[in-house]
Amino acid sequence: AQEQLAHSQRLEAVGHLTGGIAHDFNNLLTIVSGNLQLLEDLAERDPVANDAVTRALRAVGRGAELTRKLLAFARRQRLSPDAVAPADLLLELGRMLERTLGETIQVQIDCPAELPAVFADPVQLEGALLNLALNARDAMPRGGRLSISARQHRIEETGEGAELPVGRYVRFTIADTGVGMPPDVLARAFEPFFTTKESGKGSGLGLSMVYGFVKQSGGQLLAQSQLGYGTQMNLILPLAPSGAVRPETVQTMPGPRGN
Ligand code: ADP
Repeated sequence: AQEQLAHSQRLEAVGHLTGGIAHDFNNLLTIVSGNLQLLEDLAERDPVANDAVTRALRAVGRGAELTRKLLAFARRQRLSPDAVAPADLLLELGRMLERTLGETIQVQIDCPAELPAVFADPVQLEGALLNLALNARDAMPRGGRLSISARQHRIEETGEGAELPVGRYVRFTIADTGVGMPPDVLARAFEPFFTTKESGKGSGLGLSMVYGFVKQSGGQLLAQSQLGYGTQMNLILPLAPSGAVRPETVQTMPGPRGN
């Protein structure tokens, strides 16, 4: 618990710091990009200059993308939790992933239709699962299987070191058959800015953002990994107050009183 607290505080401190830097940096990038666009017109007839400007503009684009991620991280968006039906969410996510992940990755979705709704920000939750799925993809450069499932999860007693109160939860599991992580990487994977990906490819913010979101939502994020075999991420979220269902999932029940 001590470690968790230290982690949250560090996350918050890093958040404040990055927010300021990302903002200023973004302003500088705007100036650079504006001037490069001017140069682009001037360099129109010189292939070498043109090529250089194009490369520079592309780099500015990547920089802007990174600052956007940093700002999103620093802002730690205020959450608007709502009742989310896991089956609906995973169905939609599965469709999206099948379109985006390519043919070498087999996507498997497994969720009982009657699973109760969780209480979490729907947009952030989808973003978190997507984040984990994209990490899984990155871990399977030569293809593999990505399984996403949801199950009821009960916490029966609060033992020592227990993080969540007794109660009912839903556990989302994102498992891949990828490269896995050695223990030293696994130990640092949730740290902001920790990445093993080549520069430009990873910001190292994905898992720390997912971690922050899950904590803020009253849940828990757990990682298991075996080098050479794959990784499993478990995202545990509290249930929505009973009776709360997202409007889209309300079913009209023909009853004596009609509707
Ligand atoms: P990024 O993806 O930008 O590197 P993350 O915070 O999402 O940042 O992940 C941090 C690191 O954790 C990754 O660079 C990678 O080394 C490791 N990691 C995360 N997910 C997986 C996975 N599914 N399989 C193997 N390694 C992973």
